[in-house]
Amino acid sequence: MKKIAEILKNKKPTFSFEFFPPKTEEGEYKLEESIKELKQLKPDFVSVTYGAGGSTRLKTDEWVRKIQNQYNLISMAHLTCVGSNREEIKKILEEHKNHQITNIMALRGDPPKDQTHFIPVKNGFRYASELIQFIREEFKDEFSIGAACYPEKHPEAKTLEEDIEHLKIKVEKGVDFLVSQLFFDNQKFFRFRDKIRNKNIHIPLIAGIMPITAYKQIERFTQMANCSIPLELVEKMEKFQNQQEELLKISIEFSVKQCEELLKNQVDGIHFYTLNQSNATFLILNELYKIFNMSVTQ
Ligand SMILES: Cc1cc2nc3c(=O)[nH]c(=O)nc-3n(C[C@H](O)[C@H](O)[C@H](O)COP(=O)(O)OP(=O)(O)OC[C@H]3O[C@@H](n4cnc5c(N)ncnc54)[C@H](O)[C@@H]3O)c2cc1C
Repeated sequence: MKKIAEILKNKKPTFSFEFFPPKTEEGEYKLEESIKELKQLKPDFVSVTYGAGGSTRLKTDEWVRKIQNQYNLISMAHLTCVGSNREEIKKILEEHKNHQITNIMALRGDPPKDQTHFIPVKNGFRYASELIQFIREEFKDEFSIGAACYPEKHPEAKTLEEDIEHLKIKVEKGVDFLVSQLFFDNQKFFRFRDKIRNKNIHIPLIAGIMPITAYKQIERFTQMANCSIPLELVEKMEKFQNQQEELLKISIEFSVKQCEELLKNQVDGIHFYTLNQSNATFLILNELYKIFNMSVTQ
């Protein structure tokens, strides 16, 4: 399958979608319906997450294969260092390679809920940078490698500057492109982009966008993803928290405006965190294609 690094060399901005491997039959059905709908928008690639604690290890490979083979979409498998040592990680990567999976989002992962900080397994990796170095040493250029970055800093980092220093180490180990944590404040993203470019990090930076589809997500996003949500949006959503249709309309309008500004400011790509729901993402991207007069075949 085509490598994302190659796509980014020839086309900017890219549009992509993120899915997670479902745990139930109903979830699987819903995901397939979402893929079918979003495929109409001809994404440049899609990605499949790796369950917290490595819980969906086999499912990630299974879904990436299915999306590549059945839906003919370029796909990326997420991989974390949680719970796996070097030999186990190598086995997963060999399996991916055998299955023609050529794009890897290489991550450290979060500590399990009962742990306050990340403890690597014996003979495992402490940081994503170590995983990336390992992939490059063992597999050279077999994989195109993406990595995560945080416009409002990673929650464990003391300062954004410190986090960017760590990001630089990670990039130098062989990352091809970055995908950002979700954010709602473009000014924070633009400041982050300036800062990393000033630190000589010049690989493509893809913006992570998540449409809010339920009022209760606001608290979860701000706490878990460490991202701020503009007060104006929170207030509007609060007013319509019990009117789902109105709430969705506000959220979609906000995301369209947010993406419009990103595109006008030459963002390298937009990656939608879909949560396996196609509705909001479809409406947002379809609207952007109209605004920018882009055909879905380009
Ligand atoms: C686009 C994206 C996709 C994601 N997909 C998944 C997924 O599929 N599954 C999942 O479980 N999680 C996923 N996550 C969440 C991610 O695993 C967590 O945010 C995790 O806490 C950090 O992962 P990382 O790869 O950014 O870690 P790292 O890059 O290793 O950074 C983690 C922390 O360590 C610090 N650090 C890094 N290097 C050093 C160093 N040399 N010395 C000291 N400190 C250092 C960093 O500043 C940061 O605070 C995703 C996140 C993003 C943004």
